[in-house]
Amino acid sequence: MTVSISEFTENPKIAYFSMEIGIKGDMPTYSGGLGVLAGDTIKSAADLELPMVAITNLTKKGYFRQELDASGRQTELSDEWDPNKFMAPLNEKVIVHIEGREVSVSAWLYIVVSITGGKIPIIFLDTDNPENAPEDREITHYLYGGDETYRLKQEVILGIGGTRMLSRLGFEIKKYHMNEGHSSLLIIELLRRYKKDIEKVWDERLVWDADKVRSLCVFTTHTPVAAGHDKFPYSIVQKVMSEAETVPIDVLKEFGGHEHLNMTLLALNLSHYINGVAKKHREVSRDMFPGYHIHAITNGIHSFTWTCDSFKRLYDKYLPGWANDPDIFVRSSRIPGDEIWKAHMEAKKELIDYANQETGLKMNYDALTIGFARRATAYKRADMLFTDIERLSRIGNGRLQIIYAGKSHPKDEPGKMMVHRIFEAKKRLEGKIEIAYLKNYNIDLASKIVSGVDVWLNTPLRPLEASGTSGMKAAHNGIPNFSILDGWWIEGHIEGQTGWSIGPHPDTPADPANDVEDLYRKLETIIIPLFYSDRSAWIEVMQNAIAKNAYYFNSHKMITRYVTEAYFK
Ligand SMILES: *Cc1c(COP(=O)(O)O)cnc(C)c1O
Repeated sequence: MTVSISEFTENPKIAYFSMEIGIKGDMPTYSGGLGVLAGDTIKSAADLELPMVAITNLTKKGYFRQELDASGRQTELSDEWDPNKFMAPLNEKVIVHIEGREVSVSAWLYIVVSITGGKIPIIFLDTDNPENAPEDREITHYLYGGDETYRLKQEVILGIGGTRMLSRLGFEIKKYHMNEGHSSLLIIELLRRYKKDIEKVWDERLVWDADKVRSLCVFTTHTPVAAGHDKFPYSIVQKVMSEAETVPIDVLKEFGGHEHLNMTLLALNLSHYINGVAKKHREVSRDMFPGYHIHAITNGIHSFTWTCDSFKRLYDKYLPGWANDPDIFVRSSRIPGDEIWKAHMEAKKELIDYANQETGLKMNYDALTIGFARRATAYKRADMLFTDIERLSRIGNGRLQIIYAGKSHPKDEPGKMMVHRIFEAKKRLEGKIEIAYLKNYNIDLASKIVSGVDVWLNTPLRPLEASGTSGMKAAHNGIPNFSILDGWWIEGHIEGQTGWSIGPHPDTPADPANDVEDLYRKLETIIIPLFYSDRSAWIEVMQNAIAKNAYYFNSHKMITRYVTEAYFK
């Protein structure tokens, strides 16, 4: 079956480029927050009927499915999926030259349909075409797999192939929004496309119309550490990108850096609007890249996607219209407290039942349950709770349960060790504090956990959490955050009202010892007593999480800001 794209190409569009897009659990084309954010952005665009087209690589072999043995060692299983179940192939193809070979790129059309009737097309690029050399057929297979050369080829397909594909399909593009630097090569394609007339400029070096390209590009950076930004040695760049596909090397170096091709630098130099993903992250980005004007648009999550069924019913009853107008959450105190608690217990039971069935544990419905689920990588410090096991055991014996989930990138040894340490702590705390580590964290499991625990814990090493979004998902389900003051929580935190902070003020240097002390102290003296002895005060915190966090930290609010501050400029 093939479908036609023409219903989408009549009006000009914003093109949203992202290496990963997470729409649903059974389409494993994402690895974590970046992809889920992209999916949520597109869903809000569909709800609000914005003129957008999104584009990504197909990654048909997915990210990976996680298995964990009894000691917490991870194995990675292939997570191949069948695009035919979700989308339809388009007829059009474009050619991109890689290592001197012609690589044909085809496309699939997935349509995000909102309950409002809005629709956003997502174009998935695919090089697995019979006319391609075997190694080229694999370029769009694996998300974040392979070596540097493989990654660069993927970025050539996304940036250059993607831009060509949009034109080939008949799209008129008003802005190119790069969600992280993986798609920066689209800039090269635009520089070539909008070259000035050589007869008019006389000097060959003046044909590159950087101003024109800049006026078309919007760039969102997500990475608060220099090492996390994609950089490629020019030896690899020159090998992979045939001359026919690029601009002269001195032009490339002028915009993308002299030592390496730095994808972030390329995007910074040729975008008219640049933003970080939280206010603190803007500051960190400005220090990392002095001289660039960097704005802040704090991330948000798609309210309808991340609100569990029992809370959806509650919001429909007391806050009708909330899903397409989350500002209405400001009136959350209209919802009676006992109904909030009932809805929460419904979600909690569902999660506890699932956790018990998966792990064979006997967690109970009434114990204070802490949730911690996110990519298992060292800076997130998932095992911080176990810094002093004796102390934790004293504080939480019989009163605390913890639910974990999270995958480590296959090459992230420190991340894998961290998971292993959680399993060791779990053994030592047996009979005192039940701990479940649920395998294969993805969108579906995230939905269960962010709605079914009592407190959402986050312990990143500052300032490495650019934004974080899972805490916003928790807030949508009335769950207070208990977190380090980093990323979005600096903005969302009101002590004792929307949740609790861990550690010192965000402008002081990171201080792990202090963080741990604060974690135990607040757990023992504030959170546990409040949960068990003053349920109505606890429910008030839940209400505030909705009114003061969900109200603001949603992707409707976020995309409205992109529209007014970046797209229509
Ligand atoms: C929301 C989400 C994330 C991002 O969570 P953080 O708070 O940024 O760590 C990662 N993975 C999945 C599956 C998610 O749903």
